[in-house]
Parts: sequence; structure tokens; C-alpha cells
Amino acid sequence: MTKVLETTSVGSFPKPPYLNKARSAHAKGEISDTELAILERQATAEWIRRQEDIGLDILVHGEMERGDMTTYFAERIEGLDVSGLVRSYGNRYYRKPVIEDAPVRTKPMTVEAFEYAQSLTKRPVKGMLTGPYTMCDWSFDEYYATRREAVLALAWIIRDEVRDLEAAGARYIQIDEPAISTRPAEIDLAIEAMGIVTEGVKAMTISHICYGDFAAIYPRILDLPVDQLDLEFANSNFANLEIFRHPKFTKKVAVGVVDVHSHVIETKEQVKDGIRRALGVFEPEQIMIDPDCGLKTRTVEEAIDKLRVMADAVGEIKQEMGWC
Ligand SMILES: [Zn+2]
Repeated sequence: MTKVLETTSVGSFPKPPYLNKARSAHAKGEISDTELAILERQATAEWIRRQEDIGLDILVHGEMERGDMTTYFAERIEGLDVSGLVRSYGNRYYRKPVIEDAPVRTKPMTVEAFEYAQSLTKRPVKGMLTGPYTMCDWSFDEYYATRREAVLALAWIIRDEVRDLEAAGARYIQIDEPAISTRPAEIDLAIEAMGIVTEGVKAMTISHICYGDFAAIYPRILDLPVDQLDLEFANSNFANLEIFRHPKFTKKVAVGVVDVHSHVIETKEQVKDGIRRALGVFEPEQIMIDPDCGLKTRTVEEAIDKLRVMADAVGEIKQEMGWC
């Protein structure tokens, strides 16, 4: 029987307090790379065990080694540098990548973290990357004459990483493109770049897109060359499901059912209601269930509680429908 309503996560989990402390100590030169790496592995192992305990089907490594989703890669790609602190939305500050030269990937950037996490579990762990369009959109470009040149150059870098993850055994590879929905006018460029990234890949490919104008990119987004789109719905109280009713959604979809920006833990009934509404728009075989976005801004306890209520709700729906 085809698996229905498999559960997963979008990518990041909160770092435990001991790791946040170690990261600041490391930034000040007080502890070594090796000391930090040991604690990152410890935190990764904790999150793998928690996901297994909760009963999730497809796991993530949790991104304990990453700060921001673009600077992590910028620091590992030759030709890219990172700026001083730049203000993003609200009062959050981050260091923005700067494209200073043609990008070169000298070695794999995420394979070691993937292999370690996968070695801890028999369940599949997703490979987790930031897509070329988002990498470019969230960077200063001081090298290329056009955005298209910059995006496509980054696409060849991410393509190599995808191939290395696949060779390392990744059966699911997620290439996040949250910037797509904020600039609908450039969707053709994002699609062209993703074509380079996923060409010939046999692993299931996924792209997480969030917090933008889904109506402006639908149905064109169905041409993004990935197998699954991972979208947030809880944040809009599932109202944006209606966008995807017509024309028919032709890919697999991961349906976000808990709001990552709220401390409040959803009730099981709320989550079940959201899943039922999604089942009114998508076929059961199309759907995976996950949180709206990465959970890194929640506390460890809140993240666990949100994942647990999600898993419990899925379990009950499957039982009610006779799917297990
Ligand atoms: Zn997101």
C-alpha cells in the first residue's frame, strides 16, 4: 500500500542552550572547532532520538551546525564572503553573503553532517540545502552583471552538492527556495536554476517555499523541477489551501500544520481539522505532514510539543480513515 500522510520536518530545530553557549564561546575563540563539533554532534544525536521517539517517518538532522541558511553556505563557497551585520525584518540582524567572484565549491558542504545523522537511525534523513535563487536573492552581488548569471552560477554549485548527497545515500534532498514567493516576477529564473540543480537526480527532491504570495506563483510553481513542494498552511489558518484547488496540484506536497512563529502549542483537534481540510484539496497519496517552517526559533520543549501533537493528529486521522 502506498504510504499516506508520512510525517517529516522542514529543516531546522532549536539548538539546546549548551550549544548556543558553545557557539558564542567559539566565535570569541574560547573553544576550538573540534570542541564545538563534538557538541553539535551531541545535539544532532538528541534530535534524531527525539524524532524517532515521536514517531516521525522522514527525519532531518536539525542544522545544529548552521546559523543562517545562506551564510552557512557562503562561508563554504570560494568567491563568496559575508558582510557585517545587516538588519532584516523586525529586529533580527544577520550577516549577508557577498558574491565577490565566480563561486567555486572546493569540497562538500553538508555531506558529513548528513552522514553522521543518517548513521544514527534506520529512518531516512533528508539532505538539506539552500537553493540558488534564494542564495542570490539574499546576497549582495558585486561580481555579476545580471542576477541571472549569479543565480545560474550558484545553481552549478548546489547541483554538485546534491550529487554528493545522493552518492552518500540521501533518498530525500530538500533544496529550499523561500525567496521565490517574494519575487513572483523572477519565478522563471528560479525554475531554470532548479533545473540545473535537480537534473538526473533519482532521490526525491523537495523545495520548501514560505511566507510569500502563493497566489501570485500558482500554478507556475508546479513547473519547478522538484518532486515535492513543502508549504506552510497553519500560519494562514489553512485559508491558502484554496489557492491550490484549481488547477489541480500535480506534485507531492508537504502540508505545514503547526505555526512555527507561535509559542502556543496547537491542539490535536486543530491539527486534525487542518489535515482534513488538506485532504479536501490534495489526494492522500500526495500529502506529507510537517510544521510550517523550520522550528529553530522555538524552544526545544515547544518544538518537541509541536512535533508530538502533529504526529498524534496524523496517527488518529490514519486510524479514522483505516489507513494503518
Ligand atoms: Zn520556511
